Amino acid sequence: MSIFVFLGAPGSGKGTQAKRLSARNGFAHFSTGDMLRKAISDKEQVGLNAERFIKNGELVPDAVMIELINSALGSLSANTRALLDGFPRTLPQAVRLDSSPQTCVTNAIYFEVPESVLFERLSGRRICKNCGEPFHVVFRRPLVQSVCDKCGGNLVQRPDDEGVVVKKRLKVFADQNSALLDYYGTRGKLTTIDGNRSAEAIEQTLSGLLS
Ligand code: AMP
Repeated sequence: MSIFVFLGAPGSGKGTQAKRLSARNGFAHFSTGDMLRKAISDKEQVGLNAERFIKNGELVPDAVMIELINSALGSLSANTRALLDGFPRTLPQAVRLDSSPQTCVTNAIYFEVPESVLFERLSGRRICKNCGEPFHVVFRRPLVQSVCDKCGGNLVQRPDDEGVVVKKRLKVFADQNSALLDYYGTRGKLTTIDGNRSAEAIEQTLSGLLS
């Protein structure tokens, strides 16, 4: 199994790119944020345990996240190419992934984006409640206000995209990120890309890196 991890702040575009790559290049895509949100809406125990951390912009404890990702990756076949988006977010999570030959990371790709851009992207983001397609009040307005162009679902703001929580999430990210960059950097597994470009330009860079 090859495992690629996307590192980057909330709003750095890693989720958008992971969705595009999985649709076009056959990667199995795992977004731990999406997995947790689904567990919350399905009222699963793991979701109920995670909900208050997410609402407050804090990280869900490592033990919960490691169990979640292990059970997702455990059933994959040996020739799968997996893309992890949102995991690892802490050093213990990274170490744990590498501790098994099946889940040892092939390459980590860091989406570098200035913090002022991240704040603008996150606080203006709107998500389709039905299909998860992202929009933005300035940068990607829907054709009809509050309606998803793709499926007609309602557009909503994620509770953790509200101003105060966004600031907290960006701080939490900054606190953990340099340890992760050092970890993959010293193992020769880190590639940094400029995430402050159009989605199309970034997709082209990634297609070259991951082919
Ligand atoms: P995301 O959609 O990736 O921004 O994740 C939303 C929220 O889910 C985060 O703010 C965390 O509370 C939680 N979360 C997702 N992935 C992880 C992880 N690997 N470790 C800890 N918490 C996570």
